[in-house]
Parts: sequence; C-alpha cells; structure tokens
Amino acid sequence: MSGDEPDLARLATARARLEAGATALGLSLDASQLDRFERYAACLREGKRRLSLTALVDPVDVAVKHFLDSLSVCRAIPPGAARVVDVGTGAGFPGVPLKLARPELAVVLLEATGKKAAWVEQSLRELGVEGISVLTARAEDLAHHPAHRAGYDVAVARAVAPLPILCELCCPFLKAGGTFVALKSAAGAAVEVPQAARALEVLDARLRAVDPVNLPDLPNRVLVLIDQVQAVPPMYPRRAGVPAKRPL
Ligand code: SAH
Repeated sequence: MSGDEPDLARLATARARLEAGATALGLSLDASQLDRFERYAACLREGKRRLSLTALVDPVDVAVKHFLDSLSVCRAIPPGAARVVDVGTGAGFPGVPLKLARPELAVVLLEATGKKAAWVEQSLRELGVEGISVLTARAEDLAHHPAHRAGYDVAVARAVAPLPILCELCCPFLKAGGTFVALKSAAGAAVEVPQAARALEVLDARLRAVDPVNLPDLPNRVLVLIDQVQAVPPMYPRRAGVPAKRPL
C-alpha cells in the first residue's frame, strides 16, 4: 500500500455517508453496490495519481461531492426510462454512480478526451459492470449519428458547459418526450436558466423545473429539468466548437 492511501476509519465514514445519503435520496444501496462504489473510489485515487482525473482525494469528499451529487439525478429518471446518455462524463460523473445504483438502465458515457474515456472504460471493466458503454466523441458529432440521435429517454450532464450551450449538446440525443437533467449549483442555475430561454425555444424544449436536491450534505445543488417537446431541428447541434463559441 502506498503512503497516501486513506485510513480505514475514513473509508468507513465515507461508506456510511454514502449509504445514508442514498437513503435520503430514496435509494437503497446493498452491500455489493456499496462495495462497487468503494472500488470505484479506489480507481479514482489511482487514476488521480496518473491522470489528474479529479481534484478530490479524501474518500468522504468523493462519496459526497462525486457519488451522492451524481446520485441526485436518480429521482429525475422517469419510470420506464431505459436509455440514458451522460454527456461529458469526465471520470464517470454522473453516469457511473447512476448505473451502479440503477443497474437496469442502459447507460452511455460520452467523453471527448480519449485518455479519460479509456480510463473510465478500464475502471468499469475492473468493477465488472455490464450494460454501460463509453464512447470517445464530441457531442456535436455523435448527436448527428443515426444510432444516437433522438435515441435516449434521458440525457444528463454535470460541469460541462453553461446551460445554453449544454442544451444544444444534450437535447438532440432525446426522443420527443425525453428529459434532460443538468446538475448545477443553485447560484449557477439562477444565472444560466434565464440565459437558456432562447436555446430552449430553438431546440423545441421546455423548462419543467429547477428542483433543489435538499440534502444536508449538498445544500446548494439543484437539478435543472428540461422536457424535450418535439425532436430537435436537424441542424442542431452545430458543428464542433460552434455551440460554445456562439451560444444560441
Ligand atoms: N461530468 C464530469 C466531468 C466534468 S469536466 C464531472 O462532473 O465530474 C467536463 C468534461 O466534458 C471534460 O472531460 C470534457 O472533455 C468533456 N466535454 C466537454 N465538451 C464536450 C463535448 N462537446 N463533447 C463531449 N465531451 C465534452
């Protein structure tokens, strides 16, 4: 064991906080699910050394700010939803925790950076999780691919781009009637939601709610819930880089 491994008490605290937080979110994680989260956290510590995948090292911080924060999307997954895409997953957030908590969902993790995507894929293989795939691509390109366009019930994203840009990257993956869930800080949402009004109109989507997560551990987090009313017009997303350069 290397010198910067956390001690056992800290690992036990992290597990307890994750389990209690998940319960507060209406999820019950069994021992084998909690074991997988722990193993994912160990992969992240190892990955951090090599790839700077996450700034967080303390197991309790990882349990709360990565795992529980990601799990807050679960309540926004409508009953009957089957396919979920996580746009800009980075080190696997929120898509990996979502899949660990809700194994029946078919989850696609989309990540533009090949090294990060390869790391997530390798970690999932180590965990033995099936029914989840990692694609190295930009959302602007993949969203025009017939296998992916309008192919998902739910799109999720955390910490990828401001909402007007994010809507253009995520909504084209949704079927009509699908849901886009953006994980944001309350302050970020207060600024970005009004800015996204035009993007929503152009993309034929509608703001449903800004839903506070309401967890003592995550006091300032919200879910921005967006309904895809009809299929997104075919010209969106515009080509790679344009959504960020000239937001709708
Ligand atoms: N969602 C993760 C990672 C956030 S960092 C988390 O919350 O921890 C943002 C990630 O989105 C980066 O890894 C970046 O490579 C990826 N990304 C940014 N723009 C993208 C795009 N247009 N298509 C696909 N991935 C993108």
